[in-house]
Order: sequence, then structure tokens, then C-alpha cells
Amino acid sequence: MTTTAPTESPGREDRQAVIDRYRVEREKRLRPDGNDQYVEVAGAFAHYVDDPYVERVEREPVTDEVTFAFVGGGFSGLVAGARLKQAGVDSVRIVEKGGDFGGTWYWNRYPGAQCDTHSFVYMPLLEETGHVPTEKYAHAPEILDHCRRIGHHFDLYDDALFQTEVKSIEWDDDAARWIVRTDRGDAFRAKYVGLGTGPLHRPKLPGIPGIETFEGHAFHTSRWDYDYTGGDPAGAPLDRLGDKRVAIIGTGATAVQCVPHLARACRELYVFQRTPSSVDVRDNQPTDMEWFEREVAGEGWQKRWMENFCTLQTGGFADDDLVGDGWTDIARRVRDRVIAKATDGITADLLTEAFDDADFEKMDEIRARVDEVVDDPATASALKAWYRQLCKRPTFHDEYLQAYNEPGVTLVDTDGQGVERITPTGVVVAGREYEVDCIVYASGFEVGTSYQRRSGFDLTGRDGRTLAEHWDDGMRTMHGIHVHGFPNAFVVGSTQAGNLLSNYPHNLSEAGRTIATVVAHAEAEGAERVEVTAEAEQAWVDLVVGSPMLFPGASLECTPGYYNNEGQPIDDRARQSFAGYPGGPVAFFQFIDAWRRSGAFDGLTFT
Ligand code: NDP
Repeated sequence: MTTTAPTESPGREDRQAVIDRYRVEREKRLRPDGNDQYVEVAGAFAHYVDDPYVERVEREPVTDEVTFAFVGGGFSGLVAGARLKQAGVDSVRIVEKGGDFGGTWYWNRYPGAQCDTHSFVYMPLLEETGHVPTEKYAHAPEILDHCRRIGHHFDLYDDALFQTEVKSIEWDDDAARWIVRTDRGDAFRAKYVGLGTGPLHRPKLPGIPGIETFEGHAFHTSRWDYDYTGGDPAGAPLDRLGDKRVAIIGTGATAVQCVPHLARACRELYVFQRTPSSVDVRDNQPTDMEWFEREVAGEGWQKRWMENFCTLQTGGFADDDLVGDGWTDIARRVRDRVIAKATDGITADLLTEAFDDADFEKMDEIRARVDEVVDDPATASALKAWYRQLCKRPTFHDEYLQAYNEPGVTLVDTDGQGVERITPTGVVVAGREYEVDCIVYASGFEVGTSYQRRSGFDLTGRDGRTLAEHWDDGMRTMHGIHVHGFPNAFVVGSTQAGNLLSNYPHNLSEAGRTIATVVAHAEAEGAERVEVTAEAEQAWVDLVVGSPMLFPGASLECTPGYYNNEGQPIDDRARQSFAGYPGGPVAFFQFIDAWRRSGAFDGLTFT
């Protein structure tokens, strides 16, 4: 094993030593190629995105007309579809590349997959569908089932097109309709379109020299090959790996969840690490239904929980911490410090100091936990995360660190440099080849590439102008949803809106409500077109770009990753795609709620 020299966690009095270490570790990892280091899953690598879960079903092309067509059958499409149906829009067609609803949860069926934000706030439409998650952090099969439940509950299956990739969407201004074309030969019309293809949906591979030469078996975690590994998404042992030497490349949130399963099953497991994740306590628990009925159930319970989590997680104050987990823990620590010290009111300096203190304390604990759990001191040292907690997606797990105590498991730390080379027979780090039968790429998803590259289509709006052209200098929207020149079209995401990263579906829920409210109003008014004005779009872009409210992980002082443009300077163009509402998520959700309720629809024209 190659590791950095063991370094113990400095105590709080050694704050400067920690800051210096953060800088050293970050600088090791900076590379000039930034996002270009990754290989696009295309050409010779295209098979990495084949659907391993269902057979292709042939069907006739559709050429009809629907009221609303939505691209993407994940949480975005399901929530928007549900809200549209509730608002009385019956004709909703979801077009989805996968063989069923689910999006992320359709594709990511790797062993151990589960949500890492409390299911009560993470899984949408619980109250509406009557489902109570069985665990604090539900596992992937339950979440996928819930997606299907939403689909059935709101009759979204009736008109859905699965295994279908949109190829183009064009605005016909005379007819005031969109024409949607797909890879199945469909050419149907829609009065409105929604785009919800997700921020992390296109797998990427590391640009490791020789990656194309490997002659063993290989797959990406988002297309788990159970035929090869044995087992199933419900957790059955990976019983075909008993005689296999397996490499997993990447140690992000996905690897943290699947490594324990591989560790139990493989003859030998080599975990290739560039940057360790911070791994906090998970403490998953089954839902106590009596407690739920007694303490939680009641009209509006899920909204209450989501708002409470959002408030606490983004530095706000609330009487109760309903979720009470690792996410809200840091907020609690900040709050307690502020209350203790705020004798003369709350100042920005006080907040910064409280945040810094809480963060250093938290990361000290997370590093200390590694020593407590991992037997081998060199391995423990290499597993310690030297950056602020929100620089990378924080992870929570009670079996990941323990996996390194299994006899067949080796951590191959690359000291921030990444894997050196892949050969026909194995993986090379620091000149040593680790021979393996299989490589599992836990290398994440494209972020920061163009919308068109990730989605595989472009939108052509009024006057033949494409969305790619309109966004050439950076994303431009009002509320993250409406785009000038693209009437009756709605973008669903988090940027230029709430930008709540800890509970991404909260952004999607709000977007779904907004779309349904706008469409219902347009229909009630008999409008053919609804469009944001150029002035309103510009004013919104100015507002979000002019604000300092980038999420903490986007700081260039952070270790490189997709949160901060791989450590590359964030130019105006990139900033537009990172930016959120100035006051943060809570302020945005309050703003957009008031905007919807006002009925004035400021910034939009209905004609
Ligand atoms: P990530 O992008 O977080 O991780 C990719 C990993 O691959 C990193 O450890 C990265 O190292 C490593 N890597 C990249 N290139 C190389 C290389 N050349 N050599 C060695 N290692 C390399 O992807 P994940 O799939 O883990 O997670 C993506 C996101 O999906 C998460 O951030 C989270 O938002 C979401 N997710 C959510 C879950 C949930 O809610 N339950 C579960 C899993 C994922 P480095 O860090 O140095 O770049």
C-alpha cells in the first residue's frame, strides 16, 4: 500500500497547522486540465451507459399532441407531473431514457445505495401518496418503488414514453406548439415542455492513460453488473466475486456505500483513492410507526419537516431539530456558539467565527473517528479528509471505514495524484501494478459540461435560437425556470434558484409547484404563450450573479471537485451556473411561495 506519512489530527490549538495542511492537500490535487481530465462516455466507451436492467421494447412512433411534455422521469418529472395533474392538467407525457420512472434511482442500483438525507425530507410527495419510509435513510429499492408509486398515484404511466431519448425540441411559433422528436421516430406536439434531466445523470470516466486497454471486466457504478457480481440491489451477497480480484476507482459518496459490500464479497479488493471522503456517523434506524403516528403525522407534516431541515441546514434558527442528523449537527454547533457569544447582537464576523470553530471541531472528530475504527495506522492516516466538511459531499456511513479491517481489502492511496495508468491486466499506482479481474468505476457524473452534451438534445426556441446559443455566455433564467425566447418551456434544477444541495429534491418540489401554478394560470386565462420578458430575465441574472451567496463548497480554497469547478477559477460564465438566490435557500423558497401566491406573475407575459 502507498500512503502519505501518518499525521495525527492536530488539536484545536493547532488550527494553523490544520489550515496549512488543507492548503498543501489542495495544491497537490490541483491540475490544469480541471474538468477536461474526465473521459466522455461516448465512442469506444458508449457501452458504459447501456441499460443493464431491462430489454428494449419495440413500439410505434407517436405523432399526437399533449398539453405538457416533460423530459426526464426522475424526481423532477414526477413532482412536476404530479403537481400539474393536481392543477387539472390531465395530458402530461414524461419522456424517459430509462425503462421506468426513477431517474437517479432507476440507474443507481449499486449494492448499499441509499439516500443520505433523511427520507422524510428527501423522498417527495410522501404525504400525497400516503407512504411512510421504512427507515431514516431508505435504501434504493424503496426509493425506486416510491417513484413508481408516484407514477401510479398520479396516472403518469398512462402517457409516458420509456426507453426513449429526446433528440430535439423545436418551437413552432405559428402554432404556438413545441415539436418533440426522439430516437424512436416520435414527432409529437406539446403546448408546454419541461426539462428535468438532472445535474448528475451522465456518468463520466477518469481520463487515466490506458483505460481503453483493460481486458478484464469493467463497469460504472450507475450501471451495476449483477450478472457479473451476483447479488441484487436489495442486498443479497455478491456471490460471484469470491474468486475475483476487484479494483474500485473513486472514493466519493457512491464508493462509500458500495465498498462494504465489495469488501465482504471479493477475494481481493483494491480501493484506489485520490481524495478521501469525510465519513461521519450514519446511525440509520427503522421508522417506528407508532412514533410516526403520534409525533409526526398530520396535515402538512412533510412540508414542516422539509422547511425545518432546510432552515437548520443553512444556518437558520428553529425551536426543534426534527431530522437531528449529521447534516443539522454542524448547524446546531454554529447556532450554539452564536447564542453563547452574541452578547451584542449577531454580526457577520461572529457568524464566520462560529462557522469556522464548528467546522474545525467537526472535522477533527471525523478524523479521530478514522483512528478509532481502522486498525492499521497507515491506512487510517490515508483515510483522513483534510478539507472543510462542505468542500465535498459529506458522507455518513457505519460500515465503510470498518471495511478496511477486512483481510482482503487494501486501500491504495495515490497521495492526491490519481491512478497512474491502466494496463490490460490491472491498475498502476506509483509504478506498481495491481492485477485485477474487474474494475468498478465509482468516478461520478459530468458536472460543468454543457446542458446539450449531458442531455443529448438542444431546445430551439423563437426565431430559431437554440438554448446553447442563448446560454453561450452562461445560464440565463428567471427563478432558474423561465428562459426568454423559449415560451411555454420550463427548466427544472437548483441553480439560479434555491441551490439547496443537502436536500436536492426540495428544489425540485418547489419548481414543480411553480410550473403547475404558471400553467394552470395560463390555461385559465386561455393564453397560448407564457414567456419571461428579456428585462425580467436580465434582472434575475444580475441579482443572482451579483450575490456572494455561493455555497461553501464552491470556494476555491476547497480541495478540487465538482462543487468548485475542479478548483479552476470560477469565471462569470461558470458563476452563472453555480449562482443561487442571494439570501440562500430559505429566502428563495419564501420568495417563490409569495410570488406564486400573489397571482401577479411578475416577469412573465401571458398572450
Ligand atoms: P464523485 O464525483 O463524488 O466521486 C468520484 C470519485 O472518483 C472521487 O473520489 C474522485 O476523486 C475519484 N476519481 C476521479 N478521477 C480519478 C482518478 N484519475 N484516479 C482515482 N480516483 C479518481 O462521484 P460519486 O458517484 O461518488 O457521487 C456523485 C454525487 O452523487 C455525490 O456527490 C452526491 O451528490 C450524489 N450521491 C448521493 C448519494 C445519496 O444521496 N445517497 C449516494 C451517492 C452519490 P477526487 O475526489 O480526488 O476528485
